Amino acid sequence: MTVLKQYTVGVLALQGAFKEHIELLQAATQTYSDLNFKFIEVRTPEELITCDSLVIPGGESTAMSLIAERTGMFEPLLKYIQSDKPIWGTCAGLIFLAKQIINGRPEQKILGALDIQVKRNAFGRQQESFESPLDFGSFIPGVDNFPTVFIRAPVISKILETSYNKEFIPIESIIDNQDQNIIYSNNKDFQNNSPVQVLHKLDSGLIVAVRQGKILGTSFHPELTNDFRFHKWFIDEFVLKN
Ligand code: GLN
Repeated sequence: MTVLKQYTVGVLALQGAFKEHIELLQAATQTYSDLNFKFIEVRTPEELITCDSLVIPGGESTAMSLIAERTGMFEPLLKYIQSDKPIWGTCAGLIFLAKQIINGRPEQKILGALDIQVKRNAFGRQQESFESPLDFGSFIPGVDNFPTVFIRAPVISKILETSYNKEFIPIESIIDNQDQNIIYSNNKDFQNNSPVQVLHKLDSGLIVAVRQGKILGTSFHPELTNDFRFHKWFIDEFVLKN
């Protein structure tokens, strides 16, 4: 009898849309009969260390950071980032992974896994929440009409320069208030050695999806649709290639 390798994908379940991620991950892997997946809600350090990959959902990044600290999960999450495993943050999850945030709250802590600056609540009041079909065909083959959901969404306002990234070319979103009220991550122990790739910019010039090596960040919520193609791409491109 052959023993199938098991892939454990955790979804951080401190707060936010974690159940939705688990449902779409399950739907996305239904046809993988030759692989063995386990999708778990992660609330404790013991659960976190069993994960081969991690998803950080949308929700509220200030609450997520406070709950992480209160439940003793913040330090284990910093360690997890150093372990060089795939991670995907959506919306509040993207904010939690950034190195700098604009419009952050003073007590808010961030993990500093992605060399980016993120602006919270970056769309004006009129456009606080909206849905838009986007073309991701340049990085997900055939996916040219994906239903994206933006809810009080952040954007990536800057790609940050780092000492090891010699080929750095400054890329900025078209955005106001660049340098107001910035919160910095103090994760000094971690250096992501891959360059930041911009995966998607809106027509307005705002950057809404990036990848830096094994870490993926999106401003929008593929978990709040019933289209599992984005989750399938995460499994194929990040989880299975690791
Ligand atoms: N604005 C929220 C925050 O700052 C993110 C919103 C979301 O995840 N839908 O955390």
